[in-house]
Amino acid sequence: PAPRPPMLSYRHAYHAGNHADLLKHYLLTRTLAYYNQKPKPYDYIDTHAGAGYYDLTAAYAQKNREYQSGIARLNAAAHLPAALAAWRDHMHAHQPAPDTYPGSAWIAARLLPAPGKLHLHELHPADHAALTENLRPLRLGRRLHTHRTDGFAGLIALLPPASRRAVILIDPPYEQKSDYQTTLDTLAAAYKRFPSGTYLIWYPCLPRDESRHFPAQLNQHFGDNYLRAELHVRAENGAHGMYGSGMYLINPPYTLPAELETTLPALRDLCAESADSRIILDARIP
Ligand code: SAM
Repeated sequence: PAPRPPMLSYRHAYHAGNHADLLKHYLLTRTLAYYNQKPKPYDYIDTHAGAGYYDLTAAYAQKNREYQSGIARLNAAAHLPAALAAWRDHMHAHQPAPDTYPGSAWIAARLLPAPGKLHLHELHPADHAALTENLRPLRLGRRLHTHRTDGFAGLIALLPPASRRAVILIDPPYEQKSDYQTTLDTLAAAYKRFPSGTYLIWYPCLPRDESRHFPAQLNQHFGDNYLRAELHVRAENGAHGMYGSGMYLINPPYTLPAELETTLPALRDLCAESADSRIILDARIP
């Protein structure tokens, strides 16, 4: 058989519910909740949507049990800052099924008010099929658009949205190092068409130059109105791959930096894998 394209070797099911998912999904939830305060319709666009939700008892999740140092620790935590405890309650209330962990598409599908549209891109045939199937019970009807196409190109084609309001998640695997530059190029083109959207970009913290330089490259273009939050579960150590992850928000909710002052250290304390874990919190919101 022909070799699979390298971009499709990534399966999110191995990582569901880990520290990176907590950071990503906490900030996604809080951004959507902020948008929901205004009674004006908006859309949600996910460039790399995944499967919607993940069975934590399945072989993928059980392989490395990454959720045990993520969502399982959050669930077991006795003392949490109010905003983090509220997010945990929210996640419980909206859990797709017992022993599952929701992905970005599920979280957005539960939070986006009608008539807002969801545009979900997922290139992997199995994950695309699971995404469609997993979201079916939510009966989103014509509000739901799943695309088995490249999410970078798909995003540009959708901008600007007719609603003129949108929350956009860009969450590539970064298994190909070109994903960093493609994300930067896509953001530049997207921002030109739609400068008022809220863009959430997830990235891994890895001991490689593309990863190290990425936040500064984002700042060069978008440093006038951004929030950067990184959670390092241990110090950078060349031998051990991903030591944390970050979220970069363009046009972030102005309420988030103050909230993160208490919740990000609490997430670090929960997910720390060594005494040298740390956070970076940096924002400029005019
Ligand atoms: N956003 C999801 C969440 O938070 O639950 C996780 C997404 S996972 C990190 C990245 C996904 O992108 C994988 O499911 C992978 O199959 C898919 N993918 C890889 N390249 C893609 C592309 N060019 N366009 C759309 N999806 C892609």
